[in-house]
Amino acid sequence: MVEDEEDIAFPLVRTLEREGYDVSWVDSGQKALDAMATSPEVVILDLGLPDIDGLEVCRRAREAGFEGAIMIVTARAGELDRVVGLDYGADDYLAKPFGLAELQARVRALLRRTSSASAAEDAKSDGLRIDVDARRVYAGEEEVPLTGKEFEVLNILAANRDKVVSRGRLMADVWDENWYGSTKTLDVTIGRLRQKLESVGVTDRVVAVRGVGFRLEGGTADA
Ligand code: CA
Repeated sequence: MVEDEEDIAFPLVRTLEREGYDVSWVDSGQKALDAMATSPEVVILDLGLPDIDGLEVCRRAREAGFEGAIMIVTARAGELDRVVGLDYGADDYLAKPFGLAELQARVRALLRRTSSASAAEDAKSDGLRIDVDARRVYAGEEEVPLTGKEFEVLNILAANRDKVVSRGRLMADVWDENWYGSTKTLDVTIGRLRQKLESVGVTDRVVAVRGVGFRLEGGTADA
C-alpha cells in the first residue's frame, strides 16, 4: 500500500489485513520502489506522493522488472483518463473516493490474475482460473475449451470482474477497433461462453446489463 496520507492508508490497510492479506504500508515513492524489490503480489499505488509521482514509480518499477500487479488510485480529476490512455504498466485503476468493498474486489481480481499466470497447481476451486499467457481457462482442474474470441471476451470481463464492460468496448477490443454497428456476433459469443462455463460447473456468471454491456460476477472467493 503506497499512500502518503495516513488517514487514507490506515482503514485500507486494516480492511485488507482483516481479509487475511499480509499488508505493508509505505508513504513515499522511493520507499515504494524499495518495497517492490521484495516482489509483493499487488501494489496499491497512490499517484500524489511527496517525492516521486506515482506514475513515475509505476514506470520505474516495470523498468526494473517488477512483475506483480499494480493498481493505481487517484483523486486527481481527469488523471485516470491520462493513466488509462498511456502505458505506464499499471494493471488497474481506481478513482478516489472508492468503497472498501470495491477495493477488496479489485485486489481479489488482481491476485487471481497474477496467481493464474504461475500456479497451475492451485486447482481446488470451482471458480475460473485464467492463464493469460497460455490463453487457457480452467474450472478447477478441468480446462474449458474456448475459441479465441470467447477467451478474449472472458478475459476482459474477468479483468473487470464485478464491473460492467460496455458492448462497445468489448466489440472494439475483441473484434475491431474501428467497429461500429451490430453487436449480434458479441451476443452469440457470450451465449456460447455461458454454455461452456455452465457445462463445467463454473459458478461465475456472465450477466447482461440491459442497454449497457456485460459483467462477470459470482463464483467462489478463491483468493
Ligand atoms: Ca497522496
